[in-house]
Amino acid sequence: MTAKTIGIIGGGQLGRMLAMAAARLNFQTVILEPQADCPAAQMASDQIIAAYDDPAALAELAKRCDVVTYEFENVPVIAAEELAKDVPVYPPPKALEMAQDRLTEKRFINDCGISTARFHAVDSQADLEVALADFGGQGVLKTRRLGYDGKGQRVYRSSADSAEGGYAALGSVPLILESFVSFEREISIIAARGLDGAIACYDPAENIHRDGILHTSTLPASISTETATVAREAAEKLLAALGYVGVIGIEFFALPDGSLIANEMAPRVHNSGHWTEAACVVSQFEQHIRAVTGLPLGNPVRHSDCVMQNLIGDDILSVPDWLRQDNVLVHLYGKTESRPGRKMGHITQLHR
Ligand code: AMP
Repeated sequence: MTAKTIGIIGGGQLGRMLAMAAARLNFQTVILEPQADCPAAQMASDQIIAAYDDPAALAELAKRCDVVTYEFENVPVIAAEELAKDVPVYPPPKALEMAQDRLTEKRFINDCGISTARFHAVDSQADLEVALADFGGQGVLKTRRLGYDGKGQRVYRSSADSAEGGYAALGSVPLILESFVSFEREISIIAARGLDGAIACYDPAENIHRDGILHTSTLPASISTETATVAREAAEKLLAALGYVGVIGIEFFALPDGSLIANEMAPRVHNSGHWTEAACVVSQFEQHIRAVTGLPLGNPVRHSDCVMQNLIGDDILSVPDWLRQDNVLVHLYGKTESRPGRKMGHITQLHR
């Protein structure tokens, strides 16, 4: 195999784990990230220290790399499109465009024949009041762009919750009000599509969030095989519709009757897929590297049941205890400073 160089936009832990997987297959990696000595650059061949939309830096990335990918979905679409004129960019910029705005994303998902929560665009306080009235006073108000880990959200649990000031409280930016989904559990599926159009789906994970941040992913999820098939089919539809290349993470709400409602998609490797590095022969990170470099996809089969747990903030102090346990894979992200809510690493405990 000829060694190729992969550009990765974004320098966090996802870029770090992609760089590690790339190195194992003899690929070089160049990280584009403004922060020096970022988690990804510690494991990569080189780093370009510049903003994600710096034209000179993007031109240098294109020149030095055979393919460019990214580890977060807020890469400016224009930058990705410009870059794609000079070098293949995978996943395709269209996936970024669909995932960056919750309104566009929901419409796209619905157009693919997949259910989401009902929703209204909210561009003013008056819009919010009309939308809430339509949903009987219940709903989840979210910023359309740049929300993550539950940030930029406000929950209305009943008509007793006052709508007053809701639009301004989220910054008077474009918002979306989603109907409140009384889900039984949250699941996600990690899937990949190769350059040749082949698709591989990992088993759905069951996810528990704490304070809006993923806490654990458990395999298998407590869902029926029929529900798992619905998740897989939804992933296949979205990947095909996007002409996708790479790994995608799709989150769903599972309802008591076993039906699924798609919540959001992330056009990248995903936190709820970290378990794959311990419980599958080919992890989501290697799968993504294989996909974007045109290698055959790996078998996504799971050899063990497992629980992945994020180490957030001071959870990092529990590492010595985890290291003493059998069947636990510890993965740390090279971040020197721990802060509340900051993802410092994760562990995956295998249950055979
Ligand atoms: P998100 O940023 O869209 O992933 O939302 C963060 C979390 O808020 C989700 O994992 C759910 O636990 C909850 N949530 C989001 N949207 C809804 C909804 N429409 N109905 C009920 N809960 C929601």
